[in-house]
Amino acid sequence: MAEIERVIIIGSGPAGWTAAIYAARAALKPLLFEGAINEKNAQQGTLPLGQLALTTEVENFPGFPPGDLSGFLESSLPEDRRGYLPPHGKHGVSGPELMELMRAQAVHFGTRVITEDITQVDFSRRPFRLHASNGEEYQAQAVIVATGARANYLGLPSEDRFKNRGVSACAVCDGALPRFRNQPVAVIGGGDSAVEEATYLTHHASKVYLVHRRDTLRASKIMTQRATDNPKIEIAWNRTVDEVLGDDENGVTAIRLKSTVGDDDLTLEVRGMFLAIGHTPNTDFLKGQLELTEKGYVKWVKPFRTHTSVEGVFAAGDVGDDYYRQAVTAAASGCMAALDTERWLASLGE
Ligand SMILES: Cc1cc2nc3c(=O)[nH]c(=O)nc-3n(C[C@H](O)[C@H](O)[C@H](O)COP(=O)(O)OP(=O)(O)OC[C@H]3O[C@@H](n4cnc5c(N)ncnc54)[C@H](O)[C@@H]3O)c2cc1C
Repeated sequence: MAEIERVIIIGSGPAGWTAAIYAARAALKPLLFEGAINEKNAQQGTLPLGQLALTTEVENFPGFPPGDLSGFLESSLPEDRRGYLPPHGKHGVSGPELMELMRAQAVHFGTRVITEDITQVDFSRRPFRLHASNGEEYQAQAVIVATGARANYLGLPSEDRFKNRGVSACAVCDGALPRFRNQPVAVIGGGDSAVEEATYLTHHASKVYLVHRRDTLRASKIMTQRATDNPKIEIAWNRTVDEVLGDDENGVTAIRLKSTVGDDDLTLEVRGMFLAIGHTPNTDFLKGQLELTEKGYVKWVKPFRTHTSVEGVFAAGDVGDDYYRQAVTAAASGCMAALDTERWLASLGE
């Protein structure tokens, strides 16, 4: 039987690595599962290093103004972790670079990393038991769940082709990129977050189409009013996306919509398509073990703390947050989870 770990961290986004940095510096010797490298994780966008590894520029993580980071990357990342990074420009930091830097910092302080998924947990007794995709069982006194969430996409091949070249699942992250400035864009969805994303985009885009498959929005009355009152937002009712159009040089140039009530197609000339059709938290393996919300997110049970429904299990990042969903907020709650873990272990005298 493997030795009982003080803390196991599950997940490898900003929340997981930040929790690891703090836990390692508190001498908790964290063991972190970063996820397995396999076809399923590639398909659903949950390969190691999390959601930020799927994007290009990260312009809003503090500490990385535009500039040439290449010397720093070369000196701070081991050679075997640099090979796959795209060539560095003068943009500041890219998502994969930022995640590699966080990983290197956690490893530097002594975090041990296993490149496997946790597939099953038993939180009914302590030490907690965790089963990994390598078939091994691990035990821990405390666990930090930082498995994140994944954005829902439509599943069109043309959408896949233009990811990071006009197709985005995060308006707050990408809306201010030069590609979209003063250009027409479209938001797909009809809930509160679709209206929020559309409203946010009006600050940067010349026009925002809100594409919804029905003839009324699912958004609340007040949000619906906000969309209909905004002169920059035009709603395309009863429409779904049939194809994203574009080319290698320009990325997205238009989207073709089909009608949900008739036969007529409509082509909108846009430089961006923003998905706002929800997220799926990575919590399947936690069902029946931790209290989850209706949407499947881990429930935090104390205000401004990272405690979950099971004493000794803490959660950080997007796995519990369907509201802010930013790298910096995920990192912040990773720090909180490590401090909560350290204090909880200390309260047990461990
Ligand atoms: C395309 C895109 C662009 C974005 N751009 C920005 C941006 O510019 N700025 C910004 O602040 N935010 C951005 N975001 C949002 C940001 O990426 C997330 O808020 C942040 O990554 C959440 O971090 P996290 O640590 O909670 O989890 P995640 O980043 O979701 O990472 C969790 C990871 O843990 C691993 N994992 C999952 N399940 C298991 C398991 N069972 N066992 C082991 N490992 C597991 C997987 O690798 C998973 O991806 C963007 C998101 C997307 C999708």
